[in-house]
Amino acid sequence: MAQSSTETDWVSRFADEVIAEAERRAPGKPVVVASGLSPSGPIHLGNLREVMTPHLVADEIRRRGIEVRHVLSWDDYDRYRKVPAGVEGVDESWAQHIGKPLTSVPAPAGSAYGSWAEHFKAAMVESLAELGVEYDPISQTEQYTTGVYREQVLFAMKHRADIDAVLDQYRTKQKPGGKKPQQKQVDEAELEAAEGSGAAAEDDGSSAEGGYFPYKPYCGQCGKDFTKVTAYDDATTELTYVCTEDEFTETVALSEFNRGKLVWKVDWPMRWAYEGVIFEPSGVDHSSPGSSFQVGGQIVHIFGGEQPIGPMYAFVGISGMAKMSSSKGGVPTPADALKIMEPQLLRWLYARRRPNQSFKIAFDQEIQRLYDEWDKLEAKVADGSVLPADAAAHTRAVRTAAGELPRTPRPMPYRTLASVVDITAGHDEQTLRILSDLDPERPLASLDEVRPRLDRAENWITTQVPADQRTLVREEPDTELLASLDDEGRESLRLLLEGLDSHWSLDGLTTLVYGVPKVMAGLEPDAKPTPELKVAQRTFFALLYRLLVTRETGPRLPTLLLAVGADRVRKLLAA
Ligand SMILES: [Zn+2]
Repeated sequence: MAQSSTETDWVSRFADEVIAEAERRAPGKPVVVASGLSPSGPIHLGNLREVMTPHLVADEIRRRGIEVRHVLSWDDYDRYRKVPAGVEGVDESWAQHIGKPLTSVPAPAGSAYGSWAEHFKAAMVESLAELGVEYDPISQTEQYTTGVYREQVLFAMKHRADIDAVLDQYRTKQKPGGKKPQQKQVDEAELEAAEGSGAAAEDDGSSAEGGYFPYKPYCGQCGKDFTKVTAYDDATTELTYVCTEDEFTETVALSEFNRGKLVWKVDWPMRWAYEGVIFEPSGVDHSSPGSSFQVGGQIVHIFGGEQPIGPMYAFVGISGMAKMSSSKGGVPTPADALKIMEPQLLRWLYARRRPNQSFKIAFDQEIQRLYDEWDKLEAKVADGSVLPADAAAHTRAVRTAAGELPRTPRPMPYRTLASVVDITAGHDEQTLRILSDLDPERPLASLDEVRPRLDRAENWITTQVPADQRTLVREEPDTELLASLDDEGRESLRLLLEGLDSHWSLDGLTTLVYGVPKVMAGLEPDAKPTPELKVAQRTFFALLYRLLVTRETGPRLPTLLLAVGADRVRKLLAA
């Protein structure tokens, strides 16, 4: 069988494995891959791996013409565990809702959405659309409250002794908690503390007195899950619970009752069996004995299903994010990343690293280097010199089975765009003039040619670059510094100004700024640099920065000169 060169990366290898497994388990049916996200607060950028890993595999399967369903489970029927810190429009009073399903908690003040879950889901939905991620969303609130899992709930109650026996093997060694970890979080210690405080029992449904029940109702009076099942009759499905919060008690027929859910360690494998999930990765801190993935692997058999292929994915870090507005609780979301980089770049970061490799998403200066690397890759793809694995990652970044992602028509270097908007403070007319001067042979007709990359670079400059690293072009010449120059200093500035008009392009000005110190040293303009010459060049550049932007460094000088404009350069450098 002929294999194209793009079928050599980790995505292809998983796709092979998943297709083979799907054929074995459910021949002729669509392949099912799954992700789960809990809208318990802002959904962090790190959690994007939970979606991107199955997305890339599903997309590869779809490209091969095989029907595939990417189920994205919104765990919005989970209990509200705690009030996240630093979320705008939320205060201490939200603590009164702890224990309710996330869809029954009010949204932050001022939100356009009807509930806490809807509010935090919305931002993620928007980002996933921008990233070209196609999925089949499933609200667990909807599933449970409309009785979709009725049969599974009754089945779990009937087989509660079998489930309890599986869970019991792990109870002595398990750590508290156990909710499917998507990604270690900034506030993980806090989260674990919350889970450790009594959530262990909640997670598997164990109860010291009165036997084991894998189902937990939300209270009919207070709507919270501080409930305890006290009796269950298999024949009639009559279930009695009592609420430990308000002592409310009632007896319901579970065959008709829709206000509760299976405990997490039973819920997850139930859904694997229900949906026929073949592939679902989870966070790397998840391989410990007693973890819900491991326990689920046994419980799923009780439901007549099989455990999905479930690679553990490694940590995704963030480098150098500036202090975000408090509305984000101090952690970046995918929307924050998409404000400073195009979706292709973000997809590429995930596609080029195997799930078990950790990496960082750059919010600092590193993003400029990353974009340089990306542009080099695009050039290699264009001229055919790209290596197969790099080509595969590139393809997955720029298009999905549905088509090409919208791209910047003329992708000028990110660092150049960033420097220009830094200097022009986002003034469009000035930006257009400067960008056209960079390459006078091919001037820009409109800024739309460099969008959306230009907008991303501008957002990066304005939201992530600290004020003391921004470039402020002087309004008036530094007369004191100019007056202190010796003859050599004056002469070098004169040579630069003399050459401005005839060198007014990126390439031309590069030749000019490096050339002036050569001429001053009596060398030809194309002379090879000596150590002495390099020192002279550095001294000259530092002088120019000080005169133009009152600092020792700044954006690359040719870009800076173009950005400042010839008239203002003359005004600031005329000795
Ligand atoms: Zn209650």
